[in-house]
Amino acid sequence: MRLVDIGANLTHPAFAPDLDEVLGRARQAGVETIIVTGTTVEESRQASTLGFPFTAGVHPHHARDCGPDTIPQLKSLAENPRCVAIGECGLDFNRNYSPHPDQEKWFIAQLELGLSLGKPLFLHSRDAHPRFSEILKRHRVERGVAHCFTGEREELRAYLDLGLHIGITGWICDERRGKHLLELVREIPRDKLLLESDAPYLTPRDLKPQPKARRNEPAFLPHILRTVARALGRPAEDVAAETTRNALQLFSLHESGSSTAAQRPLAA
Ligand SMILES: [Zn+2]
Repeated sequence: MRLVDIGANLTHPAFAPDLDEVLGRARQAGVETIIVTGTTVEESRQASTLGFPFTAGVHPHHARDCGPDTIPQLKSLAENPRCVAIGECGLDFNRNYSPHPDQEKWFIAQLELGLSLGKPLFLHSRDAHPRFSEILKRHRVERGVAHCFTGEREELRAYLDLGLHIGITGWICDERRGKHLLELVREIPRDKLLLESDAPYLTPRDLKPQPKARRNEPAFLPHILRTVARALGRPAEDVAAETTRNALQLFSLHESGSSTAAQRPLAA
């Protein structure tokens, strides 16, 4: 089995002490490629040094810290051939760490950057439907992933109508708040489904035993895969092959080359 984890926050300090072991476990679990999520300019820069495919962007939580240098800096990071998407960018009206006008301004600026570079977008939306989809529609965004989808049917339909891929995380393993996803995941076309850990966040709640400090890892992606496959009533191997193919296509990853976890030099 070969899996692609389309979103892991490997620059998070939680991975600093033992990143090589984390990567070793991921490889053993069949997670062949990991895309490292960039959530600030600085983290995107760090992500670019790890030797993995990565995204360059600013999470809506950090929109208030953006300035005139932000887009030129992201643009220069995106020149790295391993930069496979712009983001994560979007709107988060759940935590509201940044004022809404700032969030919208820098979301749109990143959309425009992605479109001008011909890169797919790595999109974050939390409690921001329908505003989020309105902006995507107005800018004719078609290539990208609604990462960590946790919404309801109407929101899912809006993203699929736009042509977006849908990223499913361990949220679907949460019997309290992710139950609706077990049904909704059946409505995602086979060629639009992607899997992601969002590590170190969103540890699958039904994972036993729970990892130390509840830190999530890319190695737990097969657990999410099996939950999704069960919900679909299909063999995990088939879902693995399809989601891997989808990820390789959307992010223009090559089957071999410098972009796979297996080939990352182990020396930090
Ligand atoms: Zn996110």
